[in-house]
Amino acid sequence: MNAPLKLLSVVVPVYNEEETIAEAIKRLQDFQLSLASEISVELIFVSDGCQDNSLVLLRAFAEANPLIKIISFSRNFGHQIAITAGIDMAAGDYVAVIDADLQDPPELIADMYRMALTGFDVVYGKRRSRAGETVFKKATAAAFYRLLNYMCEIDIPSDTGDFRLMSRKVVDAFKPMRERHRFVRGMVPWLGFKSTPIEYDRAERFAGTTKYPLRKMLDFATNAILSFSSKPLAVAVRLGFVTIMAALAGGLYMLYLKLFTNTPVPGLTSILLTIVMLGGMQIMLIGVVGAYIARIFEEVKGRPLYVIDETINM
Ligand code: UDP
Ligand code: MG
Repeated sequence: MNAPLKLLSVVVPVYNEEETIAEAIKRLQDFQLSLASEISVELIFVSDGCQDNSLVLLRAFAEANPLIKIISFSRNFGHQIAITAGIDMAAGDYVAVIDADLQDPPELIADMYRMALTGFDVVYGKRRSRAGETVFKKATAAAFYRLLNYMCEIDIPSDTGDFRLMSRKVVDAFKPMRERHRFVRGMVPWLGFKSTPIEYDRAERFAGTTKYPLRKMLDFATNAILSFSSKPLAVAVRLGFVTIMAALAGGLYMLYLKLFTNTPVPGLTSILLTIVMLGGMQIMLIGVVGAYIARIFEEVKGRPLYVIDETINM
């Protein structure tokens, strides 16, 4: 008697991917078949408020294949939330996450799975190279991961995205983490568990354009730092301390000039400069505190992370 096959869930966030979705489904279905003797594979597509034809195309495929499942949001909630919804609803003994644009090869999930079987709870893709991305994107990504690791206590591996495979143990530990501002590729390392990278070459987008324009990328980076570190606050305190020390030294020097020399104490310009500088610094530092308060406000409201319009085959 064979034991019943285990289940692998593959979560695919989709936002306006009508140019790539058919090809992505084709590749993922091939992958599904290629693994059929080892493990059954369910494909969970999360339509993150698509405004184009993606959902129509997905629906057609789901009609023909019950292992294609769809979660459709009521509006765009963002990539990280889409991933979360897929993980929430995945039934698999293992859960993998992959983008819909085929930058990450679906076939690699099979290697991730086999690697997990040798005793790992998390297998994450590590980019050996990234084709078709601008020098600017690569340079900013590298700088960002360096800054992030300096700021955070936990180790977030560089050159990794959300392309990874997790065991049920990890998924069950991940699910209660309900923070709104999510940085999934940092939350999984935070959980711990036995993890290993698997290297691959990141391809170009199959078609379409990035859904992460510069502004969204900056938000994403700020968010990662603010959710994983309170170091900016510590920096603010240190900066305040240094300023006080500098002012004290300046004051003592002027006192010395006044009491023991005939040099007139320099006037208006220095006072103005000091006031403006201190004013600017205060505004900036209050802004840092404000950024954290805004986050507390958003978390404290305790709204659901996402709103589902419709599920298919779930
Ligand atoms: N995505 C999403 N919601 C968004 C933006 C993107 O679900 O608001 C999806 C997108 O469809 C893709 C994945 O997230 O499957 C990664 O996006 P993209 O490839 O545009 O990012 P990049 O690889 O350029 O960083
Ligand atoms: Mg992409």
